Amino acid sequence: MDTVVTGRSAASSLAPNYHPLPVTLATGEGSWVTDVDGHRYLDLLAAYSALNFGHRHPALVAAAHHQLDRLTLTSRAFGHELLEPFARAVADLIGPLLAEPDPLVLPMNTGAEAVETAIKAARKWGYEARGVPDGRATIVVAEGNFHGRTTTIVSFSDDPDARRGFGPYTPGFRLVPYGDASALVEAIDDTTVAVLLEPVQGEQGVVVPPDDYLPAVRAACTARGVLLVADEVQSGLGRTGSTLACERWGVRPDLVTLGKALGGGIVPVSAVVGRSDVLGVLTAGTHGSTFGGNPMACAVGLAVVELLSTGDLQRRALTLGQVLRDRLDALVADGLLARVRTIGLWAGLDVDASRAGGPATGRELAERLLARGVLAKDTHGATIRLAPPLTITDQDLHLALDRLADALR
Ligand code: PMP
Repeated sequence: MDTVVTGRSAASSLAPNYHPLPVTLATGEGSWVTDVDGHRYLDLLAAYSALNFGHRHPALVAAAHHQLDRLTLTSRAFGHELLEPFARAVADLIGPLLAEPDPLVLPMNTGAEAVETAIKAARKWGYEARGVPDGRATIVVAEGNFHGRTTTIVSFSDDPDARRGFGPYTPGFRLVPYGDASALVEAIDDTTVAVLLEPVQGEQGVVVPPDDYLPAVRAACTARGVLLVADEVQSGLGRTGSTLACERWGVRPDLVTLGKALGGGIVPVSAVVGRSDVLGVLTAGTHGSTFGGNPMACAVGLAVVELLSTGDLQRRALTLGQVLRDRLDALVADGLLARVRTIGLWAGLDVDASRAGGPATGRELAERLLARGVLAKDTHGATIRLAPPLTITDQDLHLALDRLADALR
């Protein structure tokens, strides 16, 4: 008989699809969490930006509590009193940043579902509005992408761990190098219905494209009648110092996917927001979700939109982001880090594996940080990503960066 590798550890009934840091958390408030033994940590991962407003933000918790006592789930078979207000609020916040200022909003739950929804809408629009021959639609995507874990989405991943073993794969995607607008333009042909990109590649280690990239992609999409779909599940909702990362380059996508922070770290909430002629192709019976747009999601999502509507948190991400950038640049100048990439309050740090005494991998740096009361997570070997809550105090940010400097020494 063949040996079956199960990856099972004797002590756990959990499937082994994660390799978490050895810490068991019990409570959280703002930027701080406490483990089951009472040790406190500053959370610089913030659930991959799902906790942009920190743990248990009072306004979000209040909205959730209030709704919990009224109505939690209807399914979309019926309406509820927060569904239209939620859609309106998201449209008002995001619409002015899109190709169409009065967009439609399609609520889902997870980021991957929002991306799947955008892919389905783009394809159907391509067949119905653009006259692409049925079954032939193509979507141009970028190397190094991360858009989620469904079988269609991993079909166009170039990360072997994410993709290998999950075929047969969904056809219809063309991979081009990220940051290279001319390669992207060459990949567009008459079958192309959309370009799907992260304006900043988060999972790849906060990879920020050259300044002329997204504007050139926008221009090419407009010229060829192709949809620009921006996956802002991680980059959106304040992280980069603006409501959408695309704003940093003055680019207005046709569709945008939102997730993570839209649920305030309380419930999973995602959405596709965009052109009404495109989302309008998803008529009754063609797409849906039992939980999409549920009352709890809309209550928290409305409170999230309200928090973002003044622009204060976006400005705060810029101000604190400058602190983050200056201090990380100093660590590079001191030879303690190989490289950093930052935008807003978001950074990817590459460790210098060759430096004696320094951490050899991102994982080792994350473990050293854990021992010093800071939570962060490695990605792709040598990199760790920092994404503190946008609500972190200046003092706590400096404290975390002091501890980072110590962990690198
Ligand atoms: N898109 C992007 C850009 C992401 O970063 C992620 C999650 N890391 C997803 C989609 C998938 O989101 P979820 O895990 O909620 O499915």
